[in-house]
Amino acid sequence: MKAEVELRKFPYPFQAALSICSDIDHTDSAGKFLKIQEFMNKEIGITFTNTFFPFHEKDEFSLFSSCPDDKKIIIEHIRNGNIEAFHGYGEKDDFIRKDAQRTLAELRKNDVFLKMWIDHASFPGNLCKYRCFGKGDIPGQKEYHLDLTADYGVKYIWTDSLTSIVGQDAPVTLKSILLIIDFKHFFSSGLNAVKTVLKIIMGLLKSKKYRFFPANKPVHIITLRDKRKMYEFIRYNNYFKGAAAGDSFSELYYLISKKVLKNLISRKAYSLVYVHLGKNFDLDQDKNRLTIQALRNLRQEADSGRIYVASSLRLLDYYIKHKYLNWDYSLVNGNGCITIKSIDDPVRGSYIPGPEDLMNFTFYVPDHVNIKIKINQLEIKRILKNKLDYSGKMSISIG
Ligand SMILES: [Zn+2]
Repeated sequence: MKAEVELRKFPYPFQAALSICSDIDHTDSAGKFLKIQEFMNKEIGITFTNTFFPFHEKDEFSLFSSCPDDKKIIIEHIRNGNIEAFHGYGEKDDFIRKDAQRTLAELRKNDVFLKMWIDHASFPGNLCKYRCFGKGDIPGQKEYHLDLTADYGVKYIWTDSLTSIVGQDAPVTLKSILLIIDFKHFFSSGLNAVKTVLKIIMGLLKSKKYRFFPANKPVHIITLRDKRKMYEFIRYNNYFKGAAAGDSFSELYYLISKKVLKNLISRKAYSLVYVHLGKNFDLDQDKNRLTIQALRNLRQEADSGRIYVASSLRLLDYYIKHKYLNWDYSLVNGNGCITIKSIDDPVRGSYIPGPEDLMNFTFYVPDHVNIKIKINQLEIKRILKNKLDYSGKMSISIG
């Protein structure tokens, strides 16, 4: 019976999803932070994910800097959803558990919560075992904080996984590898393609460091060194000289070029873009014109209903709920009913979602049947009947 109804991959009418996920490095003042937010949110008109530093050794923009406005601005932007992730506990070489306690107490006092963590450079409390080595998840170490950070609400982490493949949650194909090659920069981009193939092979050989590569999913379940399970996500950066050389505002045009977006749409995939918007952020510089143009083009893709451009947390939450949604469809006396039973989240545990958890979830349905959507016995009232989408199929969405 379920075959007549299908859970659509993305909210109607989108065909792919993308989030710009920016580390706060180089955003050294509150003024610069606000300028970036204003430019992205208002001038370009898209949502993206920013991060923050709790501490900064050079007293740059951070929660505990000597500038009282910093704290006010960071708290305000966590509250409104513009800041979604810790960027480590900041720039702090002598970081200890007590610093995490101080940070979490301050955030709780202000009644703001975060679900995402992003490792930062060589911060000693990082969760990564490899490139950005840290001890944040090793019980007994003075840097151990993961129990506190997880209790506070963090469930999605990024450690060091980066891919050059455009579009996650789509299979690795020969074409997806060949598309890494840019004929204008043949040798460096070709090297990226070769490295990607090697990473896939290492992943197939069960290397934990490259576990993301063969399946090319945006999220994996990771068991950290204190035995805690979390969702780890991968970010994307296909810059031809490698991500380390292409992580600033100036190279963003390359990561979200028209060719990339077309490819993302055709692969019906997710992308979380790795960038530092504060690095080389200067709107008057000639070299940044391409990025400004590319961002305007991205906005158009969002407006035209092709790419779901949203915050990283929104995409990650959507992906997990969608993946683990337990639902069924029945047809009685000509009346159809989609019943949502639970979300069988393997990290959080199984739970019954509320209608707000399922906002924008879309089902393809036959057009001759009247269909209700229920969460167990409870009927969801706000159901939107959509126009035919790009595939010519009829669908309904939870409003
Ligand atoms: Zn960083």
